[in-house]
Amino acid sequence: MNRNPLFRSTQTELPLFSDIQPQHILPALDAMLGENREKISELLEEDCCDWLHLMQPMEVLEERLSRLWGPVNHLNAVCDSDELRPVYRQGLMNLTAYRTGLAQNEALFSAIRALHDSPPFQALNHERKQVLRHALRDLRLGGAELPPKKKMRFKEIQMRLSELGAQFEQHILDATRAFDLHLEHERDLVGVPLSIRDAASERARAKGREGWLFTLDAPSYIPFMQYAENRGLRRKMYTAYVTRASDGAQDNTPLIVEILKLKQEAAQLLGYHNYGEVSLATKMAGEPSEVIGFLRDLARRGKPHAQKEVADLEAFSAAELDLETLEAWDVAFAAEHLRRKLFHFSQEDLKPYFPEQQVLAGLFAVTQKLYGIRIRERESVPVWHPDVRFFDIFDDSGERIAGFYLDSYVRPHKRGGAWMDECIIRWRRPDCTLQLPVAYLVCNFDAPVRGRPALWTHEEVITLFHEFGHGLHHMLTQVETLDVSGIRGAPWDAVELPSQFMENFCWERDALDLFARHFETGEKLPDALFDRMRAAKTFHSGIQMLRQVELALFDFLLHTAFDPEGKQSVQDLLDTVRAEVAVLKPPSFNRFQNSFSHIFAGGYAAGYYSYKWAEVLSADAFSAFEEAGIFDPETATALRREVLSVGGSRDIMEAFIAFRGRKPTVDALLRHSGLEDL
Ligand code: ZN
Repeated sequence: MNRNPLFRSTQTELPLFSDIQPQHILPALDAMLGENREKISELLEEDCCDWLHLMQPMEVLEERLSRLWGPVNHLNAVCDSDELRPVYRQGLMNLTAYRTGLAQNEALFSAIRALHDSPPFQALNHERKQVLRHALRDLRLGGAELPPKKKMRFKEIQMRLSELGAQFEQHILDATRAFDLHLEHERDLVGVPLSIRDAASERARAKGREGWLFTLDAPSYIPFMQYAENRGLRRKMYTAYVTRASDGAQDNTPLIVEILKLKQEAAQLLGYHNYGEVSLATKMAGEPSEVIGFLRDLARRGKPHAQKEVADLEAFSAAELDLETLEAWDVAFAAEHLRRKLFHFSQEDLKPYFPEQQVLAGLFAVTQKLYGIRIRERESVPVWHPDVRFFDIFDDSGERIAGFYLDSYVRPHKRGGAWMDECIIRWRRPDCTLQLPVAYLVCNFDAPVRGRPALWTHEEVITLFHEFGHGLHHMLTQVETLDVSGIRGAPWDAVELPSQFMENFCWERDALDLFARHFETGEKLPDALFDRMRAAKTFHSGIQMLRQVELALFDFLLHTAFDPEGKQSVQDLLDTVRAEVAVLKPPSFNRFQNSFSHIFAGGYAAGYYSYKWAEVLSADAFSAFEEAGIFDPETATALRREVLSVGGSRDIMEAFIAFRGRKPTVDALLRHSGLEDL
């Protein structure tokens, strides 16, 4: 085992990415799971309940395991292959079985509870106290306290729910794949930009067909709906999109009902009234009424703006696009035309000002100005692809405090989107040495072409800043206890605070001046272009706000105020929410909920509100910088000290108040979105 590079990776400074092969994975994982199981049962036999003899050894086992599985999980996302896929799936099953076993381990639960309730608890530092509180809470939510019969039922429900979630997702994938729009005549493409046509013709060629092929995947669907002049084809695409997984073998309707029933049953087994309460048990928001009140308040404030935006859009469509009535399949198209008319620029116009090297240098300059940290590239680190780079972070005293990988470019066999993930967690080891945090930052941006540097859109620059914000949360932590270090243990509805906070700098002249320069002429982003970009920032933000509130309120009411066995159907509830909130009413055949995988297959059930909740926090945090100056060192130091460095070790409301001097208010979010009271 000692020669297995994956096993060795748990002890080296960084994972040995150049050596890890799929055949190393299962032997290393299974050996470690076996060892862990053995050590845990030895621990629990000893009947010794203090931190040193129970939690610390558990921490060591958990850390080793995350060092072993982390790189596998990462490779699965960035270097998918036929050899890796089955191994990954098998490994994931073995790991899930191990974790379920732990969650239901009564001896472990009793030992942790005994420690939590014993006098030595009071002597622990606040990080360790928090870890114990979270551990107990999560074991309870995992059903550890239930009597045997109920525990069995609870486990059954969990297994069935994970199966249903996977099926739900599979149906959407299959339904998405089952449809394509094949066009053979150029006249059907009127309005569609050249780059989008090229991609569509490439898609057709890959399938051995002539002409152009459009699918329901976002990069194909969205531009088609924005640009295609042919209204009948837009309607066809829209109809296919919003009815995915709503009939035949791929119908998600019965799955939704079963998922809701099972969640309700699981919540009641745990002693809660509904699943919404279960969701909030680990979040910043307190009572369900607080979330519902928050969403309704946003709806009320956003509505007059949204109504005006819709009225303007309708008037514009009738006058200039010859659309008597604005149908659901016209909205994106009309909005794109109006946006171009009002602001005269596109993302393409901004790209020359955002070449890769300058954007990175600018990002690093912004964080250096804020936190005094310096970032330097390190060569010859083992990586999973030659394009991947590694950077070290140094404190203002010159001491190395963290590191991160940056994998920027889109490539085949790499999952789409952008994300930050933990590679190594900041942690004080039992031998008292300090392990420094390392992050993965992954994006899918254009690579350089033929000697020209990679040019990124403003949206991509925002994405990079966003992910780097998550990265700073992970890397600037001062916590030394594993389970509350960095983003660990931070509540889901607050975890987007550091990331969304960083986005704000991409809209500030003083920050952009640090890096936004034309890649050929070196000219600064012209004022006229900057002004148009700023003006367009809040275009249709009322409509967007209400759409987010509609989804969040539907999700939350579905898990708190809806009886899946009752008379009202899911569709009825959605219609009621729309009657209350929506300004754009979709046609009656719309079955959007059948592809709402965030809440039926992801982790967002009774949690979709988190996006807006965290945005209140991030906007309010940034408003402190607007008041003091966007690079004000004292404000930045306070943010770092009170929020970024404490990870999940501190109550987030308490942390926010310590930074801001008061509770968060919604004002800054409304102002940034251009949604102040009319
Ligand atoms: Zn994020």
